[in-house]
Amino acid sequence: MTEREIIEDLVTANHILYNEGVVDGFGHVSVRHPSRPDRFLLARSVAPATVKAEDIMEFDLDGNPVDARGRKPYLERFIHSEVFRVRTDVQAVVHNHSPAVIPFGVTNTKLRPISHMSGFLAGNVPNFEIRDAGGPATDMLIRTPQLGVAFARTLGSAAFALMRGHGAVAVGDSIRQVVYRAVYAEQNARLQAEALRLSGLCGSGEPGEINFLNDAEAAGADAANYVNMDRPWELWKMRVANPGK
Ligand code: MN
Repeated sequence: MTEREIIEDLVTANHILYNEGVVDGFGHVSVRHPSRPDRFLLARSVAPATVKAEDIMEFDLDGNPVDARGRKPYLERFIHSEVFRVRTDVQAVVHNHSPAVIPFGVTNTKLRPISHMSGFLAGNVPNFEIRDAGGPATDMLIRTPQLGVAFARTLGSAAFALMRGHGAVAVGDSIRQVVYRAVYAEQNARLQAEALRLSGLCGSGEPGEINFLNDAEAAGADAANYVNMDRPWELWKMRVANPGK
């Protein structure tokens, strides 16, 4: 893909993530530069639904704008820069504060794959504790490279991580995959909370007992969905172009 095509997809990703309830006035999505792996593209500090091509800025892996031209960057761009630095497999990153994932970052209830759409949540979903890196009195934001490094360390090799009292980060090998993961992580969180309620009230087993996908099922489902990344993308793109569909 050319840089122009990548920017077009990044703008669309911003709009889709808003439309699908993953971001609101806050949150962001980035993509690694197609010809400069040591750089990435991310909008200036505006609401994702309003992002246009001219808002897309280029950054180096220290989080410095390459040519800001007066545009103000997101404070939390260091999430993106430090993940791109250590995760050479990652081509795109979403950071969001969607409501259903937050409870899983502040309780002992682990976010786990409840349906075949979210096999990427298999294993231990990491939960970033900013107090470990920033002490007890931060403003919760990843506003420095040091906090970005700490976050990337917590993420490790995972596809998705929670941030305690803040939100989540999804990573992927394309814009389409990362948008898919961000959308379905939020949906998984909603479904898991609903299953917890059902199992607590009328389950036949212990309260709170849920039959999650096992690791093999999660891996199989993830591989099956991987070849269909274009399908939801085209639907979500159509919804952006035709509100109400
Ligand atoms: Mn944030």
